[in-house]
Amino acid sequence: MNYSSRISGNHIAIFLFHGVTLPVDCAVRNYTRKHIERDYFATVLRALKQAGTPVSMNDILNHRELGTPLPPRPFAVTFDDGFRNNLTVAAPVLVDEQVPATFYITTDFVERNRMSWIDRIEFAVEQRLQAELQLPWGPRRFHGDEERRAFLSEIRQVVKNDLMIDAEKLATDIQTQLGVAITHSSSHPLDQKLSWSEVRALAAEPLFTVGGHGHSHAILDSLGHQDLECELDTGMRLLKEKAAVQGPHYSYPEGMPNCYSARVIEALKQRGVRCCPSAIDGVNDSTADLFHLKRVMVV
Ligand SMILES: [Zn+2]
Repeated sequence: MNYSSRISGNHIAIFLFHGVTLPVDCAVRNYTRKHIERDYFATVLRALKQAGTPVSMNDILNHRELGTPLPPRPFAVTFDDGFRNNLTVAAPVLVDEQVPATFYITTDFVERNRMSWIDRIEFAVEQRLQAELQLPWGPRRFHGDEERRAFLSEIRQVVKNDLMIDAEKLATDIQTQLGVAITHSSSHPLDQKLSWSEVRALAAEPLFTVGGHGHSHAILDSLGHQDLECELDTGMRLLKEKAAVQGPHYSYPEGMPNCYSARVIEALKQRGVRCCPSAIDGVNDSTADLFHLKRVMVV
């Protein structure tokens, strides 16, 4: 895809990445390209720099709050979740290219090297070429890579549209039915998360900013009042205590329109957050609300 075409005039383009890896040999894992390869990442960054001017999320915040001008055709680079490869693979490329980036960290991923529910399911499905399972919405079977990918896509689709499904429980159920180990954590390059010292290393680089992205990665608007407060407070306390990060930057886990609301935004504002992009596809005009910023996912 031509990402440079998303940069234009006075629009603010914010690009969303998750992982940047060296080549990995997997049959079905990463079929959505949540992690992109390093050389491709460098190519994308250079193309973006040709088309526009890199800015930080702080620049965007200052522009909206103080009226500080942005350069023409501004674009920002952001990462969600806190994969270790953000530091080990992406950061050196960003420094080489002198592109600022903001890393939104899910604190329990760091605390316990936790995997997200969908990574747990992908990790399990990678280990079985064929299977028959009973899912909450009916029996399913797969045989071969194409059907494994279709199986994973269907799960993504169903869970995304039904916030009542307990995704972690579903992941455990699928791991059990596939007869693989119940896995919450893995040292595979597609799973390894930053340690706290690595979060501190990112935060120490002047080009980089660290922000929050939930504690457990729960969808914020699916949580009741107390759970929402706990999810936000736990994550912010850990970022502050373990990485001395205490700032205005946050991004919504999942970031789709059904994942946040005025109630969530109010809870974030009460805790000092002033800028929180979604994962809704799009670019932003110069009057865009800092809690409704759109992003362009790079795959
Ligand atoms: Zn996320």
